[in-house]
Amino acid sequence: MALMNDSFDRLQEEYSSIRQENEKLYYKRLEDTYRAHPELKKADDDIDDLVLRRGLASLKGEDAGDISQRLDDAKAERERLIRAAGVDPSYRDRIYTCPYCRDTGFIEHEDGPAEKCGCFRRRESEVLLEQSGMASMLKSNNFSVMRTDIFSGEDREHFLKAVDLCRDFVDNFDSDYRNIMFCGTVGTGKSFLSGCIASELLASYHSVIYMSAKTLFDTLAAAQFSKEKKPEADAVKEKIYECDLLIIDDLGTEMTNSFVGTELFTIINERYNSRKSVIISTNLELHQLRDNYSDRIFSRLTGSYDILKLSGPDVRQEI
Ligand SMILES: [Zn+2]
Repeated sequence: MALMNDSFDRLQEEYSSIRQENEKLYYKRLEDTYRAHPELKKADDDIDDLVLRRGLASLKGEDAGDISQRLDDAKAERERLIRAAGVDPSYRDRIYTCPYCRDTGFIEHEDGPAEKCGCFRRRESEVLLEQSGMASMLKSNNFSVMRTDIFSGEDREHFLKAVDLCRDFVDNFDSDYRNIMFCGTVGTGKSFLSGCIASELLASYHSVIYMSAKTLFDTLAAAQFSKEKKPEADAVKEKIYECDLLIIDDLGTEMTNSFVGTELFTIINERYNSRKSVIISTNLELHQLRDNYSDRIFSRLTGSYDILKLSGPDVRQEI
């Protein structure tokens, strides 16, 4: 899956309005041309009429040689009129923003399924990035800018091991269902590596949603308790369950209460049941996770997540 349902619908609407706009432009250009050059309108009408008559004649099995000759003459006459008027001969052509897909977003193939057009792919990337909540973060968080020399000793080993696993996670994302939990103190590369993964997956048209734990639970609370914010929160909640990858950053910094506990378990469990990956980063130690949340959350996390321990000084400015 790439785009989530509402984003896909949104893009379809965008394409539909592009088609409508271009259709309006087409008719306006045609009208303007005919108003300025009525002789062209007459020439086009004559040609349309002859085309129709030739079609009818061939349907009836009649000889259409005479009509074809007149049609050629009428076309030649039209060419002459166009040149005399100094009009762009494309005035009768339909207008498309993207000539490849004719503003449908898809290129049809006779033998096989339709293919997404390059223009659709580009919009898809933009929408995926926009909805991920990571647009600004990803400029500095991707494998291409990664430095490993800022860690040393055991810290470096932890980091390199995590990098390997993250690359593997990305490479096998579509075939191998996995989850990751990054543990470690502030500035050891947890968010950076989450960003690297997100960046790669977005580039291969996967939907990614990134949320800090605080924003995540605030949103879920709004969906549950706030009449005013509910519609918007419900839409985000749907994405939380539906996206290809959910990243929960800084688990443990939110206010922990029974609502948070229940919601966290539901997300983790539902996504586990539907084989949709989650990445969690936390500053908490494993025993603190057990204390802060329920046993069932703890056992789900330790049972179905690759736990990657990162360590070292705070290098947030340096990675
Ligand atoms: Zn296109």
